[in-house]
Amino acid sequence: MCSKRLHSGLTAFIVLCLSINPVFSQSNSTLQEYLSTRDSLLKVDSLLYFDRGETLNEDELRLESYLTSLQREMNGHYKAEHFFPPARNFYVSKAHIESTPLFKILQKMPKGGALHLHASAMGDVDWIIDRAIETEEMYVFWGDDDTDTYLTGQLHAFKEGQAPKGFHQVAKINREDPQFRGQLRSLITFENAMDQDSVDIWKEFQAVFQRIGRFVYYEPIFVDYITNGLQILVEDNVQHVELRLPFQGNLYNLENERNPDRVDDFVVSMNAILNNARKLDPDLTLKIIHAELRFKDQKTIREDIQQTFEYRKQYPEWLRGYDLVAEEDNGHPTLFHAANFLMLDSLEQASGVELPLYLHDGESNWASVDNLYDAVLLGTKRIGHGFNLFRFPSLLELVKHKDICVEVNPLSNQILGYIRDLRNHPASTYLRRGLNCVISSDDPLIFDYRGLTYDYWAIFLAWELDLSGLKKLSKNNLLYGALTEEERQKALVVWENRWQSFVKNTLEQLPE
Ligand SMILES: [Zn+2]
Repeated sequence: MCSKRLHSGLTAFIVLCLSINPVFSQSNSTLQEYLSTRDSLLKVDSLLYFDRGETLNEDELRLESYLTSLQREMNGHYKAEHFFPPARNFYVSKAHIESTPLFKILQKMPKGGALHLHASAMGDVDWIIDRAIETEEMYVFWGDDDTDTYLTGQLHAFKEGQAPKGFHQVAKINREDPQFRGQLRSLITFENAMDQDSVDIWKEFQAVFQRIGRFVYYEPIFVDYITNGLQILVEDNVQHVELRLPFQGNLYNLENERNPDRVDDFVVSMNAILNNARKLDPDLTLKIIHAELRFKDQKTIREDIQQTFEYRKQYPEWLRGYDLVAEEDNGHPTLFHAANFLMLDSLEQASGVELPLYLHDGESNWASVDNLYDAVLLGTKRIGHGFNLFRFPSLLELVKHKDICVEVNPLSNQILGYIRDLRNHPASTYLRRGLNCVISSDDPLIFDYRGLTYDYWAIFLAWELDLSGLKKLSKNNLLYGALTEEERQKALVVWENRWQSFVKNTLEQLPE
């Protein structure tokens, strides 16, 4: 609070100086006076920066100095080449990104958490294809044209002899058609999305969810699938994960196509997943934000909120919040559901538990899409995306004042066509204005990459961040994560130790 007053005081001071002091007028000043005024303005802006409170120890300062010169060298090279990867199609540069020493360093960097991930799109595509081939009862819609119900490449488990027309056993198709694997891969990912202008990217995106949804939520596969996704994150040095998915998980098995009352089984599965993941990282924390689809009607959402309160009461250790997801420009505006969210207070009083909101909003290029006003007014804890927040000046200040963290997904925004050149991503401005953000990958399975390192690589170069910025972004995942205070403090201790080891080890391995 105190530092906020200080910054607004400084800004006011500079504005006052500029208006009344002749020294601040360019025409009558010496070069020295001019430079001093210029420095003052830069200083005021630097005091607003989101990582202003971070202090670095001697080792961190040494690493910062190395990374800053590496960044200068890389950006200088890209400038000379007239090819800056974060401004171009990700898939063109993916292999190059992996080959850089910066990528190797950022892979090892403790990233705190991944707070914006959709469970059905978090894993690895090759793992999915291998498992689909190995699973005798897994079928794929193949060889026929898409129908209103089924899409080519749509996976589903069926009892023998019960698969609808057009579905074939995955193992059999794979044996008979050498092209199958590659074709299925390209139907599940955007690996071939080199020319995004030629396709309706959201239509493609939603089609992928339809293709893999019944694979992911097939009960015998679900635990292994999420475990594999967590393994990828652990290998990428992520220690806290929040997944958006329907809390009951929509699990099915061959005896029971879909039964939302099976929430107990879902929680058993989640416990098994956490158990598996803790063998990879004993300190890993995993939470769920229940996610419904924003295009559902008000009655469905009302019932869903009421049901989620029940689940929250029963499973507070797992269920940490509520969100509405899917394409914002095509679904209902958040205002359409506001009346339902306004019930939260009375439901909280009646149930004795809170259901915090973590609303996806602002994922739009349209100036008229103003869902963010509703997200903030309805009390969202964090904002999922917040891409168009820059259009709403007073709201942006309110987000800062209320310290609402923005979940930024740089490569997702680029791949889905919200921005081409990541240097101009609005989150760079948010950080400079003192908003707190976290970095996540949204749907890395569909975007065909693993972990968060690619996102950090792109923004480190595009937003010209320093180590202090990386450190704050990483720590923010725990500061703004849906954790209890006890969990948060414990996680921060783990993170701090890992961060210092990372700094030390990286310094030891630097070239002389
Ligand atoms: Zn999302």
